[in-house]
Amino acid sequence: MSKEGKKRFRSALYIIEGGRIRLKNRICPRCGSIMGYYRDAGGERWYCGKCHYTDFISRR
Ligand SMILES: [Zn+2]
Repeated sequence: MSKEGKKRFRSALYIIEGGRIRLKNRICPRCGSIMGYYRDAGGERWYCGKCHYTDFISRR
């Protein structure tokens, strides 16, 4: 069997660039502007400062 045991990294949210992990900017599905990434005790989320759309990435 081939080594396909890749870790389920959030490739949709991060880009590996020159060995560094960088957050990919996300476009707000509502108004189309760039969303900001926030992380706190409540979890990770994308927040649009323009229309206040919030997209939760993970919750516990
Ligand atoms: Zn928006």
